[in-house]
Amino acid sequence: MRQVAVSLFSVLFPSDCRICGEPLFELSRLPVCRECLATIRPIGEEVCSICGGRLFSPYALESGEARCGMCLRIAPMFARAVAYGSYEAGLRDLIHLLKFEGVRPAAAVLGRMLAEAISKLEAPVPWSEVIVVPVPLHHAKRRQRGFNQAELIARAVLKNLADPARFRLYPRALERKRETASQVGLTSHQRRVNLRGAFVVAEPQNVKDKEVLLVDDVYTTGATVSECARVLLRAGASKVYVATVARTLKASAQHLEISGEDSQTKEISPAETPLAKAVGM
Ligand SMILES: [Zn+2]
Ligand SMILES: [Zn+2]
Repeated sequence: MRQVAVSLFSVLFPSDCRICGEPLFELSRLPVCRECLATIRPIGEEVCSICGGRLFSPYALESGEARCGMCLRIAPMFARAVAYGSYEAGLRDLIHLLKFEGVRPAAAVLGRMLAEAISKLEAPVPWSEVIVVPVPLHHAKRRQRGFNQAELIARAVLKNLADPARFRLYPRALERKRETASQVGLTSHQRRVNLRGAFVVAEPQNVKDKEVLLVDDVYTTGATVSECARVLLRAGASKVYVATVARTLKASAQHLEISGEDSQTKEISPAETPLAKAVGM
């Protein structure tokens, strides 16, 4: 009897916070304490109005929108990319709990955060209906993991948007034809080559002339979402926006970031050219 009570107790009250290890006293589907969740904050600094990347120096543009050096040199495939928070500490732990430890309730929290970031993207963009497309996993990886974290996050996003009627989830829009090799240590050109042919649009007629919101968990170098945007545009999508829960922002670019299957080095950009105020961001 006592045994039953103990095991029931441990089901109702999961032992410890999966991030800090402190005991949990509240009943929650997500085994993470309030304190750890409270440390996760949206990006506070001014970022590039196009890719959401770090700005290293301020530089005024006629448009008044802040752009990083990369986006000033070459416009990305996507129209704009937004992220909720910096890929570090608690946010990174929460994403890892979902991806690598299968803690699915984390997707609800991550989706709520991402919906907040998307609401900022939405304001200056006069879009009508938007197709929401999660970045797909290769089917072997999806089978192994049991879910695609980007899709779970996208579903949670739709539950938290102020105007969900304008968004339509289309989880099978993109297909990942092959697993890509680790991106660690590759130059941006090598990364593009590495990803070439990795994604195809399943039914081009369904994205033709449509605005697409691409959803993923993390934006590291942007190589993956850029390749997805490229194939979507080639299939006739009118515009592609990108929304990721997290983005690498830290300046210490020498440090190699290894993030599971999409392992990529951090963007090492030459001195960024500066910017003015990011309007609406
Ligand atoms: Zn904790
Ligand atoms: Zn940029």
